Amino acid sequence: MHPPRSIRDIENWHAHIYYDGAEQRAAMLALRARIAERFAVQLVEPIETSTGTHPLPMLVVAFNPDLFDRLVPWLMLNRMGLSILLHPNTDNPLHDHVSQAAWIGPQLRMKPNEELPEERRQVTSLKAVGRAQPAVKINTTPTMAEDVGAG
Ligand code: ZN
Repeated sequence: MHPPRSIRDIENWHAHIYYDGAEQRAAMLALRARIAERFAVQLVEPIETSTGTHPLPMLVVAFNPDLFDRLVPWLMLNRMGLSILLHPNTDNPLHDHVSQAAWIGPQLRMKPNEELPEERRQVTSLKAVGRAQPAVKINTTPTMAEDVGAG
């Protein structure tokens, strides 16, 4: 048995907000705006096609550990019917996305690593392939208090 891992292995977090079709895309954009108004996070432009292990188009929200206890409960209350994959970013992207992740809303089926083309597979150690987890580059400028309700 391995010793327990430390939460210090978690460099930052991702919330992948999935959407399917025009109605869910509109919900994602509304949720994106609400997040940007309230939280200092990195919002990446929506990825409009399913890519790699991800089963649907998505919005990626990257955030630092100090925001977890406020952003995650807020997303649970405000997910606008969407499925959200919440995962830590450690040195092991495969486990981060598959076996160390949590879902907010209905769980979707991730595409298994072995079904992906070689270049799209998640690795089990970034260091082993000479990569590092990128730091969160905060690009939102919140204009309201984090917890003012769904507004
Ligand atoms: Zn991710």
